[in-house]
Amino acid sequence: MTGNPCTLIRTSLLADGLGGEARPDQEVLVRDGRIAAVGTRLTLPPETRIIDLGKTCLTPGLIDGHTHLGLSGDGRPYAEMFAESDEMMVLIGARNLQLHRDAGITTLREHGARNRVGFALKEGVRRGLIPGPRLQVCGRPITCTGGHFHMCNEVADGEEEIRRSVRRLVHEGADYIKIMASGGGTAGTLPGLASYTRPELEAAVHEAHYFHRLTAAHCRATDSMRRAVEAGIDLMEHAEFLNPDGELCFDPEIAGMMAESGIWISPTLQAWTRYGRMVELRERRALLTEAEEQELQRLEARAELRLDLLRRLLDYKGMRDRLVPGTDSGAGAIAFGHLDYDLQLLHQTGLTPGEALVAATRISAEAIGLGKDLGTIEPGKVADLTAFEGDPIRDISAFSRVKAVFQEGVQVR
Ligand SMILES: [Zn+2]
Repeated sequence: MTGNPCTLIRTSLLADGLGGEARPDQEVLVRDGRIAAVGTRLTLPPETRIIDLGKTCLTPGLIDGHTHLGLSGDGRPYAEMFAESDEMMVLIGARNLQLHRDAGITTLREHGARNRVGFALKEGVRRGLIPGPRLQVCGRPITCTGGHFHMCNEVADGEEEIRRSVRRLVHEGADYIKIMASGGGTAGTLPGLASYTRPELEAAVHEAHYFHRLTAAHCRATDSMRRAVEAGIDLMEHAEFLNPDGELCFDPEIAGMMAESGIWISPTLQAWTRYGRMVELRERRALLTEAEEQELQRLEARAELRLDLLRRLLDYKGMRDRLVPGTDSGAGAIAFGHLDYDLQLLHQTGLTPGEALVAATRISAEAIGLGKDLGTIEPGKVADLTAFEGDPIRDISAFSRVKAVFQEGVQVR
C-alpha cells in the first residue's frame, strides 16, 4: 500500500449506466474504493496510480439478479445436483463465483441454496477466502411441503410457519427473502399452479418488510403472478404466464396489474429458452446433423413463444424501467459466466443494447435495494466497474468481450 489510496482509470469510452451514448476519452478517479470524480483531464492527488485501459468501454459492474451458486448448471436433473454434499456445493459455488466475476458481473443475488451453503459463500467472499462478486443472499427459499426446492430445507405451510421461516432466515443473515409462489423444475411440483395463498404471501411480505428485507417470489403460474402482485411482493421472478396445463398464455389483466403495482420483474429468459444450447448449435450451424437442425428449429420456435410474451408485457407502461436481467445460472443447463446471453435475449425482445446495459446496472441495483451504492459511474458510488472491447451501447455482442473487471477500484481481471 502506498500513502495515496487513489487510482485513476483511463478509458477510450465510458457508459455510465444512466442511459445515452458512451462518452469518449474519459477518466475515473477512485479514492478508497469509491468513485471520486469522472471526466477529462482530472486534477490528480500526488502519487495517484494510473491504469490506462486503452481502447475499451468502461461501464458499471454488471448485476445478475438470479443465480444458484451451489448448483453446477451442467444439465443434470435437480435430484442429481442435490445429491452433492453441502461441502461440495460450497466448492462448486466458489468456482461459479469466479466464472461470473470474470464475465464482468460484480454483484449477484444467490437465489436459493441448501442449508447454509449460500451464507457460507457470502461469508467466504467477505473474509477474502474466495474471490467473487458482491453477494446478496436469501439463504434458503421458503417453499411449501413438497414444493419447488423443498430439498433446500426451508419448508413452511400456513401464515404462522411462513412468519417463523422469515424470522429464522433474517437472523441467520438473509439479505432478502425468496419465496416459491408456484411449482417449478423440481420433480413432482406443478409449475402451472400457485403453491401459496395470497394471505400466506402477505405474511411473508409483512414479516420481511418489518425486518427491512425485500422480497422476491418465484412465479411461473399465472395464478401465482396475480397473488404475488396482490400480496405486495417486491420482485417477481420468471413471470411465465403459465396456465394449469403448462402452456404459456398471456393475461392482459394481470399484465395491467403488474404495470400499475410497480413490481420489479426478472424474466430469466435463459431458463425457458435453453439459450446456451441454441448458441452452441448456431455456432456450427453449417455442420449440424439433421437431428440437430431439427432440435435447433424446435428450440427457436419455443424461444419465440417466450420472447413474444415478454414483448407484450413490456408494452405496458413502466415495465421496461423495472426489468431485472437474471440468468438462473446453476439450474438446468445454465452455466455460470453468461449474463451476456440474457442481454442478447432482452435485445431480441426489443431493448436496445444501451437499454440492456441500464437494466443490468442501474435498474438492477435499484431493484435489489443497492441503488445508493451501485449501478452507475457517478461520484460517491462504489467503484465496481467492467470494461468491454467495443461499444456495448451500440453492439450487443460487446457484452461477451470482457477486458477488465474492478471491484471497489481494484483490478481483479
Ligand atoms: Zn432460480
